[in-house]
Amino acid sequence: MTRQSPVLKSLMSRQMEMGDVENLQDMRHFRMGRDDNDIAWVFFHRQGESVNTLNRAVLEDLSRVLDALESQPPKGVVIRSTKQSGFCAGADIRDFREAASPEVMIDELLQGKVILDRLESLPCPTIALVHGHCLGGGFELALACDERIAIDGAKFGFPEVQLGLHPGLDGSVRLTRLINPLEAMTHMLTGKTAYTKKAKTLGIVSEIVEERHAKAAVQSLVKNRPQAGKNGFLGSVMKTGLGRSIAAKKMRAQTAKQAPKAHYPAPYALIDLWEKHGGNRDAMSKAETHSFAQLMFSETAQNLIRVYFLKEALKSSADNKSEFGHLHMIGAGAMGGDIAAWSAIQGLTVTLSDIENDAIGVAMKRAKAMTQKRHLNSMQSRDAMDRLIADPKQNGVKKADILIEAGPEVEKIKKQIYASVEPDLKTTAVLATNTSSLPLADIGRSLKKKGRFAGIHFFNPVASLDLVEVVNWSGANKVTMERSRGFIGQIGKLPVDVKSAPGFLVNRALMPYLLEAILMLEEGVKAETIDKAAEGFGMPVGPIELADQVGLDICQHVGDVLREQLDTPVAEIPTFVRQKVEDGHLGKKTGQGFYKWKDGKAQKDEPGTPADDAQDRLILPLLNACAACLRKDIVGSSDELDAAMIFATGFAPFRGGPMNYAASRGHKDIKQFLSSLSKTYGPRFDPDPFWQA
Ligand code: NAD
Repeated sequence: MTRQSPVLKSLMSRQMEMGDVENLQDMRHFRMGRDDNDIAWVFFHRQGESVNTLNRAVLEDLSRVLDALESQPPKGVVIRSTKQSGFCAGADIRDFREAASPEVMIDELLQGKVILDRLESLPCPTIALVHGHCLGGGFELALACDERIAIDGAKFGFPEVQLGLHPGLDGSVRLTRLINPLEAMTHMLTGKTAYTKKAKTLGIVSEIVEERHAKAAVQSLVKNRPQAGKNGFLGSVMKTGLGRSIAAKKMRAQTAKQAPKAHYPAPYALIDLWEKHGGNRDAMSKAETHSFAQLMFSETAQNLIRVYFLKEALKSSADNKSEFGHLHMIGAGAMGGDIAAWSAIQGLTVTLSDIENDAIGVAMKRAKAMTQKRHLNSMQSRDAMDRLIADPKQNGVKKADILIEAGPEVEKIKKQIYASVEPDLKTTAVLATNTSSLPLADIGRSLKKKGRFAGIHFFNPVASLDLVEVVNWSGANKVTMERSRGFIGQIGKLPVDVKSAPGFLVNRALMPYLLEAILMLEEGVKAETIDKAAEGFGMPVGPIELADQVGLDICQHVGDVLREQLDTPVAEIPTFVRQKVEDGHLGKKTGQGFYKWKDGKAQKDEPGTPADDAQDRLILPLLNACAACLRKDIVGSSDELDAAMIFATGFAPFRGGPMNYAASRGHKDIKQFLSSLSKTYGPRFDPDPFWQA
């Protein structure tokens, strides 16, 4: 893929660099040798993996590297990765699952810390030469070096909070001392990434270089180490207990806005340990170790680690042969335009057609904005835009390996589109639709080659929602389904197999939740109060705000389809919502829906106190619909279902997904509460037969 070519190029030069180094000593996960300036080059190449991660075996190997360096110190040491993907992605999360107890975890962490301390104490300058990702434990390894040089495109961060953890190998100790401690804390508390230039501004890296200048930069840094950066007045204030205490109070308030302590304890634990021990390196290190080990065994971390593995399972369900070179996209509207842009950014050649030339123009502008939002450098952004080709005459159809249709949700139009392109398609091309609600058997009925037709259902906004439903139907052949999954893997999204059934999985499960919120609104409950109830459960945004984001027209359409097509009771869309849609108040996209929207934000009042049953009224219909999907085999397993709901709707990740939550609460309890809600509010709450099982 062209997008990767700079990385590939840099990989090639890294191999050349290795060629310059004499007498490479081969260990399992590292290779080491010295150049003619007596600088030791330590190449990190975790055996048998495409990405470098840290685990006990890797650290033991690093310890052997250090034995050699300590016994015969060179003039300088450089650590760099041989992997195309980057320096190191962090700790190997597979190992996290195996730790038997907090005590075992503490032991493991202490052993790792001793090794990083030895690296830090080498008598010569040590440099981490970083390309690509440098995250979590990988960042901690780089921080144990005296200096970091970044190859353009490198990114640094501590994403541990996303797993319900914080750094555990002295990352919190070293980063708060290296850079402005408030910036350091913000990065650890939010898990946000510092891209190359930001990393330089913050003082994480001393230099940004192009690959071809890396060796010279290393030599110069070994000869002339820069003065240690000073954290100035702020750094001094943060060394005092009072300074940290004032800052910590502010951090807690900020964190509470994002993540309540009861659901996400890790950031609060990090603030506590920094506030208490930030002035004393050893005490902070000790506190970090103990806090990490405790968090690891919290329900939140266990669920979030589970979610990580669910994601990995979805990824690996795509046989990612990167076989698709050319996508032809029909429909340059909200969805088609963004699918096209995303796919071009991911390296495919994309031709984009629409009956309206203006729609293509608008989509091209949005594509440009997407490249910027995704932090592509100017060359990558230019390459992506070169691959995205406006194609009003549909010349791309003949060349496409896959064609996705995202025209209007009207059966007749979709069928017309297929009839017009089918004769020109390559025999091997996959033909896919992004339909949200039309049965594939209906729109695919008149196709000559039905076996190649599948649903590939993206979610809006395409760039931020990773999940894509790959929709199977009776006419599709197995190879088409496999290739469709492969396509989703190739463009870096997460495929989940679902059956063609009303609303597929995600909309089928989400809609009862949104509809119930709308009914509460009709009853006179404040929008903010309804949202508060759902957020209290752990949803990232409440259902009223989410309905505005999805678009009230789309909610109405999906609601109507489900009501018409499902054999279980679905609430009717209230008249006041239909009126809003008629008046063009569609939500975020028009600036007015249930809320007023300004600068992309819902304008909210203070919420009231939600009723006692509000959370169950919202969440249980969603669980009930999930249960029905499992019972009807619309989705293959509860794990896939959990992953789909988390990655398409943001369902409270720390709960590990709807079915994981249902299991921890108990099916019996869920059935009981649904029955009781059914008595109060009507048959839409009737428990699904699944709960009997
Ligand atoms: P849209 O109205 O924004 O875009 C549809 C585009 O198709 C328009 O640009 C229109 O000019 C073009 N078009 C109309 N007739 C055409 C034809 N004969 N040939 C080529 N182009 C034609 O719609 P959208 O929101 O992008 O939805 C597109 C599809 O994606 C629908 O099937 C919808 O159900 C599905 N979908 C939408 C969302 C969403 O949130 N909007 C989410 C998932 C799936």
